[in-house]
Amino acid sequence: MLQGGVSTKRDATLNGDASGLYTANTLSVASSRPPPPRAPSNPPALARVAVVDDDRLARDRVVSLLRARGHQVTAFESATRLLEAYKQAAFDLVLLDVVMEGMSGVEACRILKAREEGFVPVVLVTSRADPDARVEGLRIGADDYVCKPFEEEELLARVSSMLRIKRAFDQLAASRNRMAELAVLDDLTGLYNVRYLQQRFAEEWKRAERHREPLAIAMLDVDHFKLVNDQHGHDVGDAVLREVSTRLKGSVRDTDVVARYGGEEFVVLLPSTQLAAALVVAERIRKAIGSRRVETARARLDVTTSIGVALYPSRGVSSKDQLLRAADAALYRAKEEGRDRICVHQEQMYVFLPEDDS
Ligand SMILES: [Mg+2]
Repeated sequence: MLQGGVSTKRDATLNGDASGLYTANTLSVASSRPPPPRAPSNPPALARVAVVDDDRLARDRVVSLLRARGHQVTAFESATRLLEAYKQAAFDLVLLDVVMEGMSGVEACRILKAREEGFVPVVLVTSRADPDARVEGLRIGADDYVCKPFEEEELLARVSSMLRIKRAFDQLAASRNRMAELAVLDDLTGLYNVRYLQQRFAEEWKRAERHREPLAIAMLDVDHFKLVNDQHGHDVGDAVLREVSTRLKGSVRDTDVVARYGGEEFVVLLPSTQLAAALVVAERIRKAIGSRRVETARARLDVTTSIGVALYPSRGVSSKDQLLRAADAALYRAKEEGRDRICVHQEQMYVFLPEDDS
């Protein structure tokens, strides 16, 4: 909690409602996760295969054929059983008999293909006498079919081919996710980049305006950062920015958005946050960064930050640009007042000085 060090009429607010708002002190920024392990370029062909057939002999034959190739096979005697299991289990391939008691393979295929998650190839197993079912199956999205009675080699070849496509699809999806992640992250720090900040800021601003909810913003800047670069070189400067970013992320709540605004400047959006709570977060950030030295390969450095905080709604703030400018002005004031401090833009600017500042 704040220790009441704000020497203005805002005291009542500041000491009022800041408790219980912090549910977590880590930020779920996509960047904080390490990149997913790369799929090996030549993965083993083993796969989780579901075999669905109401004829036990036919089923057993396919199961033992695939198991002999090392696949992890689960057998189902009906499409209903498969769909039940599908809720928990993940499969890489489904072999579906078309003509079955109860739900047909074509119907089951339609249901499976209507699901949105990922790509799971479905191979229909049809009799040669039933071309209509085959056409219907392919029309509703089956990926391939095998005619009964089938040659073992043909079945295995179709299974391998489907699994190759499945793996290619999965790798593509993984790299697409990674690309999407990279597009919103700052290279150096792994925080969100300016582009993402602008997008989120616009969304949060709209939400705040529409629902009359508070939106706080903190803009912060590493004090005398130019000196770090000048005296120790850019490698050390970069290491400082990375460490500051880590401490920054560790100081905010799940719902806050932390971005590198450029150079040594950072912005934190604090949605649905009143001034008191925003100041608690800002002070936690200031302390996390300034409380212990930053260790780099070549230097141990005392690093401090100046923070400007602004809030919507407040007087003079009726657009998101004004809110940003207000935080910027407050940051400028914090620098002027001597750095390593928080300055609040609200009605009249004041410097926030917690009493327990040590
Ligand atoms: Mg059958």
